[in-house]
Amino acid sequence: METNRRPDPSASSAAAAARKILIRLHEVMAARTHAQAKLNKVVEIIGEELSSEVCSVYLLREGMLELFATRGLKQEAVHVTRLAPGEGLVGTIAQNVETLNLEEASGHPDFAYRPETGEELFHSFAGVPIVRREKAIGALCIQHVDPRAYQEVEIEALQTVAMVLAELISNAGLVDENPGEVRTVETGATILSGLQLVMGMARGHAVFHQPRVTIEHTVAEDIEVERQRVYSAFAKMREQIDRMTGQAEFGVEGESREVLETYKMFAYDEGWSRRINEAIDAGLTAEAAIERVQQRTRMRMRQIDDPLLQDRMHDLEDLSNRLLRIVAGQLGTAAQLGLRQDTILIARNLGPAELLEYDRRRLKGLILEEGSLTAHVTIVARAMGVPVLGRVKNTRALINDGDLLLLDVNQNRLYIRPSVPMDEAFESGLAMTQKRRAAYAALRDKPAETLDGERIELMVNAGLRDDIGALDVTGADGIGLFRTEFQFLVSATLPQRERQQRLYKDVLDAAGGKPVIFRTVDIGGDKALPYLRKTDNDQEENPAMGWRAIRLSLERDGLLKAQARALLEAAAGRTLNVMFPMISEPWELAQAKALFREQKEWLDRRDRKLPKLVRYGAMLEVPALAETLDFLLPELDFLSIGTNDLTQFLFAADRANPKLAERYDWLSVAILRFISRVVRTCGEYEVPVGVCGEMGGRTLEAMALLGIGIRRLSITPASVGPVKAMVRTLDLAALTEHCTDLLKGGVPNLREPLAQWADENGVELS
Ligand code: PEP
Ligand code: MG
Repeated sequence: METNRRPDPSASSAAAAARKILIRLHEVMAARTHAQAKLNKVVEIIGEELSSEVCSVYLLREGMLELFATRGLKQEAVHVTRLAPGEGLVGTIAQNVETLNLEEASGHPDFAYRPETGEELFHSFAGVPIVRREKAIGALCIQHVDPRAYQEVEIEALQTVAMVLAELISNAGLVDENPGEVRTVETGATILSGLQLVMGMARGHAVFHQPRVTIEHTVAEDIEVERQRVYSAFAKMREQIDRMTGQAEFGVEGESREVLETYKMFAYDEGWSRRINEAIDAGLTAEAAIERVQQRTRMRMRQIDDPLLQDRMHDLEDLSNRLLRIVAGQLGTAAQLGLRQDTILIARNLGPAELLEYDRRRLKGLILEEGSLTAHVTIVARAMGVPVLGRVKNTRALINDGDLLLLDVNQNRLYIRPSVPMDEAFESGLAMTQKRRAAYAALRDKPAETLDGERIELMVNAGLRDDIGALDVTGADGIGLFRTEFQFLVSATLPQRERQQRLYKDVLDAAGGKPVIFRTVDIGGDKALPYLRKTDNDQEENPAMGWRAIRLSLERDGLLKAQARALLEAAAGRTLNVMFPMISEPWELAQAKALFREQKEWLDRRDRKLPKLVRYGAMLEVPALAETLDFLLPELDFLSIGTNDLTQFLFAADRANPKLAERYDWLSVAILRFISRVVRTCGEYEVPVGVCGEMGGRTLEAMALLGIGIRRLSITPASVGPVKAMVRTLDLAALTEHCTDLLKGGVPNLREPLAQWADENGVELS
């Protein structure tokens, strides 16, 4: 095993040098003396061990780097010499979190001479940043009278010692670690953009989904114990990564194969584990050694301006954090640790169930490094009313835990540590949004009717208990898609029939006679249920096209039977609208209907009250179904087109893969022709058809759907206002004619021509 290999000779002399210092420092740290006395001792020890005439520690206080202790410079300068971040060599080290190794210090362009220190006597200079939580909180420097370049061994020793110093300094409270006040790196305001996933605006503080581990102890008590800890952490991490790469099942959606393969490569990288072992040899704990190696990598990578390498860095950071969390036994996410009041959550990617673990009153926004428009986590966030910006790069490097963030997805902007003008711009945007929202609220009781008198049915998508209020708030015509699997996703165990029934009844009661279309569970794909794991033999290469939705329900029919009974009993005395997801062939619908009928008879035999009417629907999400509508439609009361899945299958483009998120367009002729053909056939069979995918919630896309004959949309509640405003400004007959012409040919994508038509015809789009 790599973690047990012996280090190379130069590494071992660096380790030996550091180890000697660390043993002495350990005693100092344990002593019951004042922090200043400890620091004074520390500079003496380092100076002696490295035979340097000068050793100084600068720490950040009130935004300035202050000389806290020195051996060799004038003592009168202690607590007097102060440099701003970026000023002088020390300020440069802290600002850039970089190491300086200079034969002639005064030759460096950033050199700033401070006469009170008496440093004119010394020529050579080496300094390393003292880093805590990825930020420089100070600098440790040595100087010599004679000009000389320091050896790698000395620099390594200094860096290792600086790690330990960070612990001492932090424990002694010598620097203020409040992220709001003390900053060395990434202090300024930054603006990022990404992919707009869920519109909205939010103000809050940065919280990482996987919090960084704070290292409490840096000096090892027993090197063999630390070596063993790192050994088993590596084994555990590699096991996890192997499982992830081998598992094409739940929970890996979004972490594309390539990413996982890179992960795997790094996880098994011999150099990485060897360097960690060397750091342990130098006397660091397992945690400190992992962090030490990561710091060094970070510093090296910072000097390389190559986006590909930056991406790799991102993987390494992730992996290093994973290893750290394993070794420190801190495996929980921020959800388990409890959120602060206004949180903007940052994650590489999340599963829908992971998002649902968060307290929605405190969670104000979400930033994903990956993410795509129709991934279920996006849909859940939309349902929760949480704005989401996806594909934001480099969050770990640019955002500090606790930073103030202003998230304006509407303008595709993320303000990090905003300046006053940014804050003002954000506030005025917020005021505009609120004004618009008020205008939409005023439409609540107005019908969704086009200028030429066509009534459009606007329903909402729902799935969580809290969504029930959306009907009342929006004035929608009903719930066109109730995703019953959400209850399964938020639950730690399989929800029993009684619990399901209670939810369905509450939804029907709250709907007060407006129709509710319950969709039977669509689990599988990226909707992971930890309690419904499949056996290893069932692992799937491609879960979105695998054993999910109706396929799983018909095989695990105990699950579907319980749900059927829960739905039938909840709708006693009323109409039950039920639809089945991912129907691919008509026989699947027939079996699902038969199962419902059996359950109905079973209840009937026991004199239970039944629904007055059961109406059956199917989702058209699998393109093949469009070719068998002549068999299917006579068996159906309604059809609902699920454009999220339908488009991923039409384009063979994984809906959760961030790399494909912007590649294909809902307004391509391919999709619109396909849907218009389905609409026409449904018309022939007089079966009502609607659209319930995310596409219908965007005003231009919704307009296109109306233009090809759709009259029922089930959309996210936040879209009801904007879509209704669009409907009420639309001449549908004119649009239909225009769409018919456009679809005949000429352009392969209708986005531009439709936007232009809307503009020329005064249609209100948002
Ligand atoms: C769809 O696929 O369009 C749909 C509405 O279902 P879901 O997003 O839940 O897969
Ligand atoms: Mg679907």
